[in-house]
Amino acid sequence: MRFAELAAAYERLEATPKRLEMRTILADLFRPLRAGDLERVVYLSQGLLHPEYEGIELGVADSLARRAVAQATGTDEPAVARRTKETGDLGLTAQERTAARTPLEPRSGLTVAEVYSELEKIAAAKGDGSQEVKVRVLVDLLVRASPLEAKFLVRFVLGTLRVGVREMTIVDALAESFAAGTKEARSRIEGAFNLSSDLGVVATTLAADGLAGIDRIGLTVGRPVRPMLAEREPTLDKVLDRMGGRAALEYKYDGLRVQAHLAKDGRVRLFSRRLEEISAQFPELVADLPRAVVAAPAIVEGECVPIDPDTDEIQPFQEVSRRRGRKHDLARVQAEIPVCLFLFDILLADGVPVYAEEFPERRRRLEASVRPTERVRLAAQRIVSEVSEATAFLEEAVAAGGEGVMAKSLKPGSAYRAGARGYWWIKYKRDYTEGLTDSIDGVVVGGFAGRGRRAGVFGAFLLAVYDPKRDRFESFCKVGSGFDDAQLAAMPKRLEKFAVAERPPEVDSGLTADRWFRPGLVLEVQGAELTLSPIHRAARGAVRADAGLALRFPRFTGRFRDDKGPTEATTAHELLAMYRGQVRQAPPASDDAAAAL
Ligand code: ATP
Repeated sequence: MRFAELAAAYERLEATPKRLEMRTILADLFRPLRAGDLERVVYLSQGLLHPEYEGIELGVADSLARRAVAQATGTDEPAVARRTKETGDLGLTAQERTAARTPLEPRSGLTVAEVYSELEKIAAAKGDGSQEVKVRVLVDLLVRASPLEAKFLVRFVLGTLRVGVREMTIVDALAESFAAGTKEARSRIEGAFNLSSDLGVVATTLAADGLAGIDRIGLTVGRPVRPMLAEREPTLDKVLDRMGGRAALEYKYDGLRVQAHLAKDGRVRLFSRRLEEISAQFPELVADLPRAVVAAPAIVEGECVPIDPDTDEIQPFQEVSRRRGRKHDLARVQAEIPVCLFLFDILLADGVPVYAEEFPERRRRLEASVRPTERVRLAAQRIVSEVSEATAFLEEAVAAGGEGVMAKSLKPGSAYRAGARGYWWIKYKRDYTEGLTDSIDGVVVGGFAGRGRRAGVFGAFLLAVYDPKRDRFESFCKVGSGFDDAQLAAMPKRLEKFAVAERPPEVDSGLTADRWFRPGLVLEVQGAELTLSPIHRAARGAVRADAGLALRFPRFTGRFRDDKGPTEATTAHELLAMYRGQVRQAPPASDDAAAAL
């Protein structure tokens, strides 16, 4: 495939905010492709070269890309920088400068395969002299590129490909290109993606072997599974009701979710909730897991929490977060803040997939597969059928340092549902009953200039929740409290790579921010209550036709949810559930409207 065709499709994608149209553009793009090109196009459209969990980065900073654009177009670098400051997008500058240049030879002829392999070279360049290699490869590509190709090449290397294509849009498009676009086909494709976390594999298997092939995509050690997620209920009574009167309650540990993959040869890889590999941060778990889990090849899941080495008590979560991203001093931090992994599920045991088995069976397997060690233990569990038993277990969990309980369904059908949020698991935190004290993970989509003491920096941020059905980020509050000076001062840097000139098409808000950001950074906030609002757009129409949900008195808790991607933030649907669960409620809800969410 010619790269020009891909660039043209991106241009069309960029021009439409409509998900249906995006799906058609992508489906047309994928349909004629097979194997190699299909895989490349699927990854490139996600802004990737390989599945995300492999964590391959191009390592191209703005300054490096600027240099390459300047060299390739014969422009001086300050001019490139000036123009980019005006447009806010080096991709556009590259496009303009390429258009203004008379090429020495006829342009283009670039193929997707060539571009991909050159981008691989950029990613592979490491260490001394790597910057020069990256610039050279990029210049060579840009010299051959048409203006449109140059725009998307630059955006790709900077990680700002803004075509707005998220995983589920690609799933939709694949269903349309290769499987008649039915709902059933879509859900099988999504299922394969949830198990493999790799749309390249899903696409090429589907194109080659159809839906039958897709159903055979299973678990592979070393390829993370998208995590099963929990719903919430406001009281233990309701929790038990939902579960049919009887449930397994477990301590809800407040730490980091860890999915551990154990190979037969003793090799262990750990993945975060976002499927990033975090093995290097927890060497003690990597060392202990092969001893503790006697069912390799295996995939197990648990929550990793800090433990006081003297008293064996669970410590506050903040201690673990100090270890994240830590490369130096790991040995010291490890001794000061040892962690323990409390295992709560098993997906692969002795090389056999068990995720489709019901929960009681999986728990039995987990118990049979684990020999607890100092660092790896089982999540505490009790089967309850009375609210009084549940309350007693909750108190026990909280006294032991947990933040609540996790209820798990014992009913037929209680398989592990990769990538899905549902009432098979229900989280219940101890303070749900005291009004809206549960936190919300909001995505930063806008910034407001500060005044007074905060002049010159951002004073507040526009936050949004995610609506997967609409594939939109809907605003629910403007938050300025809770940030300390250092955090505020660091925000521009954290947000820099998400900055865009206009409101991104996937963002929905009645407010106009001073600066707009692509959804990327996730913050945890708390507030007094959820109310109806004419300007915020979260779950708009679900309670009242012209109103969305807004959080009153929002406050940043100080916790950046770097372990969550924007689509993993709190959803509009969850916000609605929280609104309904509030002790004091505004006007009655219309269930029809809610069902449409
Ligand atoms: P979510 O994962 O539902 O998007 P979140 O990351 O904000 O939300 P919580 O709402 O606090 O986290 O609760 C869910 C998380 O609780 C799980 O993803 C997991 O990391 C953690 N957890 C702790 N104990 C357990 C347990 N026993 N079983 C399942 N998950 C548990």
